[in-house]
Amino acid sequence: MTYPKARIPTDPVLCTASFSGPDRQHVPSVTDVDHVVHVTSGRMAIGLALQQMQVAAFDEILLPAYHSRSMVEPVIWFGAMPVFYRIKADTAVDLNDVAARITPRTKVLVVVNYFGFPQDLVALRAFCDAHHLLMLEDCAHASIGAHAGKPLGSFGDYAIASTMKFLPVYDGGCLVSSRNRLDHVKLVSAGLKFEVKTAFNTLEKAFAYGRMKPLAALLSIPMHLKNALWGLLKSRSAVDAGPVGPRASDGGFGFEAQWLDKKASVTSRLLLATVSMPRVAEARRRNYLRLQAALADLPGCAPLYPVLPEAVFPWVFPMLVDDPDTCFPILKHAGVPVIRFAEFLWDGLDESVCPVSVDLSRRVMQFPCHQELRETEIDWMIERIRTILLATPVSMAMRSTKPLQASA
Ligand SMILES: *Cc1c(COP(=O)(O)O)cnc(C)c1O
Repeated sequence: MTYPKARIPTDPVLCTASFSGPDRQHVPSVTDVDHVVHVTSGRMAIGLALQQMQVAAFDEILLPAYHSRSMVEPVIWFGAMPVFYRIKADTAVDLNDVAARITPRTKVLVVVNYFGFPQDLVALRAFCDAHHLLMLEDCAHASIGAHAGKPLGSFGDYAIASTMKFLPVYDGGCLVSSRNRLDHVKLVSAGLKFEVKTAFNTLEKAFAYGRMKPLAALLSIPMHLKNALWGLLKSRSAVDAGPVGPRASDGGFGFEAQWLDKKASVTSRLLLATVSMPRVAEARRRNYLRLQAALADLPGCAPLYPVLPEAVFPWVFPMLVDDPDTCFPILKHAGVPVIRFAEFLWDGLDESVCPVSVDLSRRVMQFPCHQELRETEIDWMIERIRTILLATPVSMAMRSTKPLQASA
C-alpha cells in the first residue's frame, strides 16, 4: 500500500528558528554520556554495540516483542539469536518473562525507552548485574531526557540513539557508553558524494515543506544545477549506480553492513552541535500536551501514557485506538503524518509470544509532536484526526478503549 506524502512534516525539517532557542539550562541528552561516537543511523549504533560486546554466532539477545525490525536486523547480521520477551500493557519490561527466557547463552538485554518515556532503568540495571547480562539501552525514541537524575543512555553498558528522529538531519545515530571507552572505534568518512547528498537533502526537505523561503529562492538555481549534474553523473558511470545514502535514511528496516564503520555526515554532526536543544525540548512537550488535550474526549481512543512526567521530551504522541484497521489508512490518505513504528513485527512473532505487543503494534498510532511543527499545522492535524476518528464505526458505537480487547 502506498500512501500520499504527508501534508505536514512527519520528522523535523530545518528552519531558520531551529538555531535560536530559549536560553535555559542544559537539556539532558544521551550525548552527555562520557564516551560517544556518531554513526549514520541508530541500527548501525546497535551493530557497533554488539561488536563492542563481542556478540558471536549463537549468542542469545533478549529483545522486546514490541519493536522495530531495524533493531533485529543487526542481531541477525552478527549471527546471534533474537529471543523476544514480553512487555506489559504500559510498555514496561516484563522482568518475570525476561528471567524465564535466560539461558547460559544469553548475553545481552535490549531495553527500549519507548516514545521518550524511560523504563524503570534503575531496576533493569540491577537485574542485568544480578544475572550477568550486558544491557543495551535503546534511546532511539529518547535522544534527550533524564531518569533518576541521570541522562538517558547512562544506564546501559551501551546505549544507542537515532539522531534523525529528533533533529532535521538526513542521517545520524549515536553509540554511547558510560562504562566503556569508545576511542578505539575507528570510523571513516562515507565520502564526498554522501556529504553533498546529506547537505542538500536537509535543505530540500526544508524547502519541500515551505521552510526557509528566502534561502530556497536564493538556492533554486544551484539546486537545479545540482540535480542536473547528479543525473549526468548517474547516467555516465555504471559503477556509481548504487545508492549514495544508507537506506536507514529512507524508511527501510534493513541492515547494510557497509555503513557500520562510517561516520555521521558533517551536516548531521554540525546540526547536532548547533540546533537549540532547549527549543527542541520545550516544543516537544508543548506540542505533546496540546495533542493530548485536543484529542482527550474522542471516543474509541486514549493516550498510551496517562501523564507526561518531568524530564520526558517525547518523540511522538502515542495514542491507543480501538479500530486502527479502519482509521489508519484513512488518516494516511488524508496526508496526516501518522506512523506505527512497530507495525511490522519480526516474522513469526504472534500472540503466543506476547499478546500485548501484537495488540500495541496494531493499535498504537503515533502523531508527530516535533519542534518544527507550526501552530497552523498542528491545528490542521487535530482537525483531521478528530473528523476521521469521529466518523469511524467504533467511535459511532461509542465503544470504550479497553487494552487487549480484540476489535472485530
Ligand atoms: C528507529 C528505531 C531504531 C533504529 O534507528 P535508525 O536510525 O532508523 O536505524 C532502533 N530502535 C528503535 C526502538 C527504533 O524505533
